This record gives sequence, C-alpha cells and structure tokens, in this order.
Amino acid sequence: MGTALEVRDLHVSVEGKPILKGVNLVVRQGEVHALMGPNGTGKSTLANTLMGHPNYEVTHGEILFKGKDLVGMGPDERSRLGLFLAFQYPVAIPGVSLANFLRAALNARRRASDSTDKGMPIPEFRKLLKQKMDVLKMPHEFAGRYLNEGFSGGEKKRAEILQLATLEPEIAVLDETDSGLDIDALRIVASGVNDLAGPELGVLIITHYQRILNYVKPQFVHIMLGGRVVESGGPELAEHLEEHGYDWIREKVGETVAEA
Ligand code: ADP
Ligand code: MG
Repeated sequence: MGTALEVRDLHVSVEGKPILKGVNLVVRQGEVHALMGPNGTGKSTLANTLMGHPNYEVTHGEILFKGKDLVGMGPDERSRLGLFLAFQYPVAIPGVSLANFLRAALNARRRASDSTDKGMPIPEFRKLLKQKMDVLKMPHEFAGRYLNEGFSGGEKKRAEILQLATLEPEIAVLDETDSGLDIDALRIVASGVNDLAGPELGVLIITHYQRILNYVKPQFVHIMLGGRVVESGGPELAEHLEEHGYDWIREKVGETVAEA
C-alpha cells in the first residue's frame, strides 16, 4: 500500500473561533477524492490548515503523512515531504521565470530525500520540463514567463498544474473554490488532474462547484458541513448533490451540527 494523507479528528480555530470540529479523512496515493460542501463550512480552512498557514490553529487532532504528523511543520517542509498544496507560491515573483522556480522547487525536494544531491543538471531539467509540458499540451514558451506576473486566472492554473507535474508529489490538495475561477480555469485543472492521475498520485479536490466533476471523475466524494465530513461515498454522491442540493444532508445531520 502506498503513501496516505490521514486527517484524524482535526479541530482548527481561526482567530480563536472553532471552525473545524473533528475532520476525519484519508486520501491514498492513486485515489482521486472530491471534498464538497456549501459555502462557509470549512473547506478552505481545511486546505489552509493542510498547507500549514500560520493563522490556522490546530487545537486537536493529527495530520499524518509518511508516518509524520504535519502539525507544526512549515509549508516548505510539507512540500519537500511530497505533499503538494496549490497556492503555496507567492502571488508574483518578478524576475524569476516559471522554469527557474520549478527547478529550485524540484531540487529542494531532491535534497530533502538526499542531502548530498547536487540538483538536477540543467539539460536534464529542460528535457523533463518539455516532456511535462507536452503531456499537458502547454507551449514551451510558457516556462520562460516570470512567475505569475500578469498571469490570467487560467495561466495561474496552468502554472500550478505544471508545478504539480514537475514535483511529482505523492498527494496533492487543490482548493478550487477561488471565486475568480472561471470555467476555463476549472477545465485546465480538471484535464491536468486527469492527465496526471495514476497509481503514484493521490488527489483531493476541494470544491463547491458541482461542474468540475463533469470533467474529473473522483472515486470518492465527501461532504463537509459545519466543520466536519458528514457523508462519504462514491461518484453517485456528487450526482445526488447535483440533483438534490445540500438540504437533505443538512436535515440528516442537522442535530449533530447544531450540537457542535
Ligand atoms: P468554505 O471554504 O467551505 O466556504 P471557509 O473555510 O472559507 O469555508 O470558512 C469557514 C468559516 O471560517 C467561515 O465562517 C469563515 O468566515 C471562517 N473563516 C475562514 N477563514 C477565516 C479567517 N482567516 N478569519 C476569520 N474567519 C475565517
Ligand atoms: Mg472555500
């Protein structure tokens, strides 16, 4: 069995206010999961906590990855371990090309597993990058652009997916609830995930958009409500949500959430 990201009874507060109230979730390498739920239920709080954002205080529970508890680790340390989190890079880095950024990130990952690693030679890296861009049908010039400088929403997503392809993480967490995300950006993410999904990669797509699931087919679907994962199932759960919305699940767990 491969690597897993295991969230156990996770409680998280933001500015002293409890938001996550006992999240349990396991994502294994080779699996595609979707975490869905109405606005304000804590999905992005989970993403930010997994990322190691300092404003999100874990008051209880564990986040296990490769036998380690990620709680207390910085975002870069998590990334070097093989966990990919979207938006882990700054908004824009003028003067640093996407290619150079990716090479630095890749070499940091290599050094984490072998401290004597001298980094990937540039010709080898160029070859790798071209190969990844071909898989994702991206023009090679894209790698020469300065990181996120003047990137459209869709281009930011492309950069993110290219980063995912290059770093080859074991588990990737993608929070796609960004309000700026249009349908094209969503398609880019979806087709990237489809191209990259396989036995070596586990993906958790966090979304309130039903429509991304028209392009990506997760094997597992979870519903978050009131800071907890209250229902898990297969793709049929997403279809049920599409048809019936969230009211039925609110009714079903109403008391539990009210007590929390
Ligand atoms: P979702 O992604 O499911 O829409 P969020 O995780 O963004 O939900 O928000 C869950 C709750 O946490 C909301 O009530 C929101 O107001 C609150 N929250 C999230 N982040 C912050 C923050 N940085 N400061 C204050 N409140 C926050
Ligand atoms: Mg959100």
